[in-house]
Amino acid sequence: AIASDPAAGDRARALDAHVFHSWSVQGQTNPFAIAGGLGTRVWDHDGREYLDFSSQLVNANIGHQHPKVVAAIKAQADVLTTVAPATTNLVRGEAAAAVLAHAPGFQSVFFTNGGADAIENAIRMARLHTGRDKVVSLYRSYHGNTGAAVVATGDWRRVPNEYARGHVHAFGPFLYRSEFWSASVEQECERALHHMRRVIEAEGPESVAAILVEAIPGTAGVIVPPPGYLAGLRELADRFGAMLIMDEVMSGFGRTGEWFAHDAHDVRPDLIAFAKGVNSGYVPVGGVVVSPEIHETFSSRVFPGGLTYSGHPLAAASIVATLDAMASEGIVDNARRIGQDVLGPGLAALAERHAMIGEARGVGVFWALDLVSDAKTRTPVGADVIGALKGALLRRGLLPFAADNRIHVVPPCVVTDDEAHRALEIYDEAFAEVAGGAAA
Ligand code: PLP
Repeated sequence: AIASDPAAGDRARALDAHVFHSWSVQGQTNPFAIAGGLGTRVWDHDGREYLDFSSQLVNANIGHQHPKVVAAIKAQADVLTTVAPATTNLVRGEAAAAVLAHAPGFQSVFFTNGGADAIENAIRMARLHTGRDKVVSLYRSYHGNTGAAVVATGDWRRVPNEYARGHVHAFGPFLYRSEFWSASVEQECERALHHMRRVIEAEGPESVAAILVEAIPGTAGVIVPPPGYLAGLRELADRFGAMLIMDEVMSGFGRTGEWFAHDAHDVRPDLIAFAKGVNSGYVPVGGVVVSPEIHETFSSRVFPGGLTYSGHPLAAASIVATLDAMASEGIVDNARRIGQDVLGPGLAALAERHAMIGEARGVGVFWALDLVSDAKTRTPVGADVIGALKGALLRRGLLPFAADNRIHVVPPCVVTDDEAHRALEIYDEAFAEVAGGAAA
């Protein structure tokens, strides 16, 4: 039974005034208080349960409080809770090997504290390896909140933070909101690749160090690339001597029903940035998976980068336990199956029923509902509609993830059939309520 402790809830909300919140007007955040969690469920201090269809920030892939991961962190805490990065450390090596087991052909792992600094260091490696400067990334992207990562980001968060040099942006393929007037997915792919090629040519290919993309742009709207796009970027990178950096921070480790989302696209990047799902965020960690060629560059020269907590033992232990549990419990397969059998068809049916859902797109446990006020013009709904939907979902016991005009359907990879069906009912009721009770 879940304990109810309303006084603790009051105290949490009062003390929250001392917390400076991300991406917010301070004092206007009204955050939701979470007291505990298990699997796909979280609960508040009043003992009310919610289905966590946000996975927090799309990171709790293994669900909350997985007993094997919690036990591994506790066991490591009894042995050694911190160690300098320049030392050899058994659990750090095991964590690197565990990650590399899912990235055949790669050589090594540089551990960071999270996703942004993984991107930061991947960019640094690409620049030093090529001796070039520019990084081409997409407008529809999020790569993190540090110097180069935030400027590589495409969305509004880049604009007030544009202090890093050497960044160029392009549009990627997105048929539902095509920048290329495409009528088919093939056309969109071809035109987006043509556009990317022209951007690189116009920037001067000899100045381009890397093409940086999320395997599936996540926060930007779960924009699954058309078949051939990522392979086309690989060809462009090869043609122009640039590195291909795959940002798998949100899409990696089970979210798409693959270990890495790009595994489904028959492409091998030069660098892979990861974080979130690698240990579901139980301890902050991220990293860069490095190709043999780039590793070799730093065999004869210094890699000018490092972090006090690179390969932190608690994080390393949690990675080993997480990847082990994900493999032995079939958690990645579960994500794929839930996507194919339950969420895919269920969300498509919702889109049929509710005119507000312009498009339901995604894969695995990585979906977005693109909400429109007019299905023909595809005009995005406003913040008022999203606010009303969030309220309607929370009242029914579902913790949602909202971004711009979208609701992202992103439960942990361990979500059960029953939980997914229950969530689909809740979304259905919430859309009906917000549309004024009239399902389309
Ligand atoms: N890259 C992607 C694709 C992300 O979604 C995120 C975070 O949402 C990041 C990088 C940054 O990761 P972090 O917040 O751990 O720094």
